[in-house]
Formats: sequence, C-alpha cells, structure tokens
Amino acid sequence: MVIKTDVCIVGSGPGGALLAYLLAKQNISVILLERNREVAREFRGEFLNEEGEGILKKLGLFPKVEDLGLLRIEQIEYWQDGQLLKEIFPDVYQDNLGIHVPQNHLLKVIVDEAQKLDSFQLMLNTRVTDLIQDEAGQFCGVKALKDGSELIIQSPLIIGADGRFSTVRKKAKIPVAVKNHGYDLLWAKIPAPYGWKPSIKNALVNGSQLTLFTQAKGFIQIGWNIEHGSYPQLRKQPFEPFIEKLIRNFPELGNVVREHIQSWQDFILLDVHSCQCETWAKDGVLLLGDAAHTMTPTGAFGLNCALGDADLLAQQIHHCITEGDTKFIGLVRAEPKRRAYIEKVQALQVDMEKSYESLFTAYV
Ligand SMILES: Cc1cc2nc3c(=O)[nH]c(=O)nc-3n(C[C@H](O)[C@H](O)[C@H](O)COP(=O)(O)OP(=O)(O)OC[C@H]3O[C@@H](n4cnc5c(N)ncnc54)[C@H](O)[C@@H]3O)c2cc1C
Repeated sequence: MVIKTDVCIVGSGPGGALLAYLLAKQNISVILLERNREVAREFRGEFLNEEGEGILKKLGLFPKVEDLGLLRIEQIEYWQDGQLLKEIFPDVYQDNLGIHVPQNHLLKVIVDEAQKLDSFQLMLNTRVTDLIQDEAGQFCGVKALKDGSELIIQSPLIIGADGRFSTVRKKAKIPVAVKNHGYDLLWAKIPAPYGWKPSIKNALVNGSQLTLFTQAKGFIQIGWNIEHGSYPQLRKQPFEPFIEKLIRNFPELGNVVREHIQSWQDFILLDVHSCQCETWAKDGVLLLGDAAHTMTPTGAFGLNCALGDADLLAQQIHHCITEGDTKFIGLVRAEPKRRAYIEKVQALQVDMEKSYESLFTAYV
C-alpha cells in the first residue's frame, strides 16, 4: 500500500504527537506513525517544567490534561543517610516546583485533539524500517511494517521523532556523538503511603543517589543512580541488602517497598546517555526531541525540550510550506538558534550532575 502526505512523523512521543497536532491544525496533512499498539505504552519522562507548562497553557491543552489528573510538587527535600538536611518550597511567584503529568494523560489529550482534525492520521502498530530517497538523493518517503505488511508513505518532509535510538537518524546517516555520563538509572514505581506529601526527595544513601518523585494518582517513582554499565554485575548480587538500604533510609516505605519491589525484575534499567547530532535537518529529513538531542534524566528536561522543539518547528514548517520552500531549507537555517539553547541545557545537566553533592551541604 502507498499513501501520500505533506508531512510524515515517525514516533508518537510527546514531541511527535504535539508537532502532528500543530501541523494538522494549520491544515497541513500529516501522518503520525507509532510502532506500539497504544500511544501511551512507552515509559518516559513525566515532569513538566516552566517551558512545558507554558507551551501547554499557550495551546489551551493544560486544563484538559489537568482534568485527567496531574500533581503539583510542593517541596523538594535533601536527605542524607536517613536525615532530612534541607527543604525547599515554591517562592511567592511559583505555585509549584514541577508538575507530574502521567504520560498517558498528556498523550491522550494531544492525540484526542488531533483526531478531531481531518488533516491528521495516526497509524499505530506501524514500525518504520527504512527511508526512501529519490534519484537526486532527497528523502521522499518511509517504508514501514504494519501488522506484518509493508507500507510506503510518500512525503516531502520526514520527521524523526522516534526517540533516543532513532531509526530515522540511522537511516539518514546523520552522524551522532554519544556522551556517557557515568551513571545509569534503576526505576521502580510504588503506591504512595497515606499522607505522603507531593514532594521530590533527593537522598544520598551510602554515597549513591536515590530520588523519590511523588506522582499523580498516588504513586512514587524511585530513581536510583548506579555506576554506568554496572547493572549486569549488580544483578548477580543478592537483592535483599540492596533494597534494605532504601528501607533503612525511608522506613515509612518499608511495607510498600517489600510488597512491590521483590527482585531485580521489579526495576527498569535506563541506560543514561546524551547525544548531539551533526545536523538536525538533511535532505528532507528533520529530527526533533531525543532523536536530535537525547537528554539525560537530570533535571527532567527531555520531555520539555521535545515539546519546545515541536512548538517551534510547527511554526517553521508552516512558514516553509507557505513560502514555497519545497526543500525545507528554512529548517536548516533555523537550526542554530534552537541548537544553541539545547546545548546550553545539556551543559546545565552536566553541571547539575557534577555539583549534585554540594546541594546537600548548603542552602542555595
Ligand atoms: C526510562 C526513561 C525515563 C526517563 N525519565 C525522564 C524524566 O524523569 N524526566 C525527563 O524530562 N525525561 C526523562 N526521560 C527522557 C524523556 O522521556 C525524553 O527526553 C522524551 O520522552 C523525549 O520525547 P520524544 O518525543 O523526543 O521521544 P520519545 O518519548 O522517546 O518517543 C519516541 C516514540 O517513537 C516511537 N518509535 C521509535 N522507533 C520507532 C519506529 N522505528 N517506528 C515507529 N515508531 C517508533 C517510540 O515507540 C516512541 O513512542 C526518560 C526516558 C526514559 C527512556
């Protein structure tokens, strides 16, 4: 089967879904391809900062997300070996210190709004496997597998919004520099005990970093830093002493942790890295979000940067189309400004990683 569209977006994470919605709103025909059977299946970052919150408010999407459920963080705490050292509260100009939005709420709102538009089409269970080039070397379509059958989507603009291990980036042969940050993360989710405050608790436990993020709908996300690449070795160790460290530091979580985290299998490993691509735009292919610039989880910027990319690109793509810029040269010209901002955020993440321990010793 062959389908034609103005813009083909690969990946329905926050970046791809928002861009698809914004383009469809401008009457640009767009097909959004997602390899999973549901848009909300993948496990991703869920904290909105001011950039993400501002974009959702500007687009009128925030109240709809709020109706489904979100949680405003009221305090950030610093703990060392079971002792509370410091608490930070919003200042008079803030009503939160970050907002937890379950990924399925965010994506549901964006995709539901997009589905109301005739120029939007979502294809689930559709995995992009390759790109198609014309004789001049310009990318002009993708090959995908849907329910085991090959599908061709022809499009003058292909957006790689397919995350940190982007197929589009690989197939377009865009060089990428990957940076290892020295740590990986173990993630687990547990129900919050009664009376647990909406907080982010940063803890130093025997020198290693552990964070407890309160989530909407009564959950706590545990993020435990481990040395990069050490998980295969760690998994060979007995599990009990490892989890006991968490319980010793937060005894009020003892019952719930014992019930919900019983073996290494109850943790998900996030292989932490960041990347910078040589270019984000090449011959009819454009990358955004983690595909263009994978972020580490530090400071919870990745989701917000992906939303920011989509918001900006929707305007730039519309401009190219109305100006008759059929090769989307305008996107190449616009890249340096956004790239400078993203590189600043990535540098900030590195600074935050280096100075993490100092946060436990002084009020900032
Ligand atoms: C386990 C984990 C925890 C994280 N925690 C945080 C956090 O706490 N805070 C934070 O800010 N950031 C966090 N991040 C990073 C954050 O989730 C990303 O920066 C953000 O999701 C990037 O959005 P995106 O739209 O660019 O890509 P993604 O959200 O990665 O979405 C990419 C989409 O593309 C789809 N896809 C991939 N390949 C194909 C293909 N070939 N064909 C079709 N579809 C495809 C995927 O299924 C996915 O839906 C985390 C990431 C992971 C993996």
